[in-house]
Amino acid sequence: MRGITHAGVGATAYIAASGLMQRDFSIFELVFVVGASLLPDIDHPKSKASKYVLPVKSKEGKRAFFVCLGIAVLLFDYLYVGENALKALGALLIMIGFTSHRNGITHSLVGMMLFMFVVHYTGTKYEYKYLTQLFAIGYGSHLFTDSFTKAGLPLFYPITKKKFKGIITYRVGSKVGDFIEMVILLLCVVYIIYTLPTI
Ligand SMILES: [Zn+2]
Repeated sequence: MRGITHAGVGATAYIAASGLMQRDFSIFELVFVVGASLLPDIDHPKSKASKYVLPVKSKEGKRAFFVCLGIAVLLFDYLYVGENALKALGALLIMIGFTSHRNGITHSLVGMMLFMFVVHYTGTKYEYKYLTQLFAIGYGSHLFTDSFTKAGLPLFYPITKKKFKGIITYRVGSKVGDFIEMVILLLCVVYIIYTLPTI
């Protein structure tokens, strides 16, 4: 699924969840959830998420960047902090460096839980108790919508590389796929326009 569609679905999921939880709308939270909804595609060197993060947009550049960053985080943790969340983050970054698009850790439940562990640590540290839930809404919406694509998801990676997908699927980038994503995006925009003033 394309980045813009993930962002639309993530924003819609946030607005819907805010309504259900009877919480006030917050632009910070919206941006955070949309960011989380784009995060899994960080494993693709040319995705929307990578666009703002990677200095070099090639496979090798992506690998070198994430592996170096992961080692730096682990070293920083070893020397100064000694916190499990940072160890998890370092390990995650190195794993992201070694996975190709949609084949590894960022599109799995293990990856989602590791990220949530890091986010939970940050939320607790800065006393923002909803951070983990907000992250789960964005990240979860990405995995959910990707499960309708033909390629499927390695949901239980690294235990198994087997890909899982929904009953109805479409091919990303095909004419039908583009049309479906356009309709989804349109529905998201309509939902947001109608719901936003009510929360
Ligand atoms: Zn994806």
